[in-house]
Amino acid sequence: MKIVDFRMNSFDAADSGRNTGVVDGNILGSKSSILNSFSLPLLFMHISCAGVFFVPGGWPAFGIFALMYVLHVFALTAGYHRYFSHKSFKTSRAFQFILALLGTTAAQRDPLWWASHHRLHHQNSDTEEDVHSPRHHGFWWAHIGWVMKRELAQTDMSRVKDFAKYPELVWLNKHPYAPAFILAWLLLGIGSLIHWLKPALGITGWQFVFYGFFLSTVAVYHVTFCINSVAHMVGKRRYDVEDESRNNWLLGLLAMGEGWHNNHHRYSVCTRQGFRWWEIDLSYLLLRVLQWFHIVWDIREPPKSILVEQRT
Ligand SMILES: [Zn+2]
Ligand SMILES: [Zn+2]
Repeated sequence: MKIVDFRMNSFDAADSGRNTGVVDGNILGSKSSILNSFSLPLLFMHISCAGVFFVPGGWPAFGIFALMYVLHVFALTAGYHRYFSHKSFKTSRAFQFILALLGTTAAQRDPLWWASHHRLHHQNSDTEEDVHSPRHHGFWWAHIGWVMKRELAQTDMSRVKDFAKYPELVWLNKHPYAPAFILAWLLLGIGSLIHWLKPALGITGWQFVFYGFFLSTVAVYHVTFCINSVAHMVGKRRYDVEDESRNNWLLGLLAMGEGWHNNHHRYSVCTRQGFRWWEIDLSYLLLRVLQWFHIVWDIREPPKSILVEQRT
């Protein structure tokens, strides 16, 4: 049986059916208008990774890389994706801002921009109007090309009215790179302070900057981008949804649960994306811990009818 209601119960603000194509037609009108305000920072971040060859490596470098990677992937998957895009759990305004701020330090712009485009992706998944469909626009466009398109630098506030009412989020939308810039300086300061206090540890400020900021941020870019490209091309399809979404175990691990993308496209309203015990979903598990501390609540699970559903 072909499933046609894969978007049911999705986010309430934007999920009103497939887009008419009027707005999206303009957005996708020409791929030639590449190079928006995100293009140069993106290029700069990639080139700056070369700095790791000029600073000390070893365990301190791996430690700061891993810490920033996990923090940023969590902020993006639990915050930008499952909270701001899909409203799949609830939290306080204070923790909402913490998720937003931490996500913005990952230099993938702000939650309003991110959610407005992601909601559009679910409305138009793998149709001509999907801004990052590998089926229609090719792997590289789906992976990294679309984020550099000039018109896509804009945020369609009508798609995120539910969060655009918060001035602190609108401020982040207007200054999407400021928190990342501050984070880089903070890492430089903390690393330098540790070096000054305990030089025997082999930690330096620039080591923290190049491993904890540049290399980690670029790794998080590509893991995030792979959900739009690879997770719509490579992997297994448990559900017979209309789009090309796949369950990819490697991305499930690297993107802390987001790789179970076919599950997610089948039932995008739930917080949990790994539907079987062996489908490890680290962001969901961390959210369960936060729920235990009453920091988040109303985490939504997939219903039994979805769990037992089979492809035909
Ligand atoms: Zn998708
Ligand atoms: Zn989604």
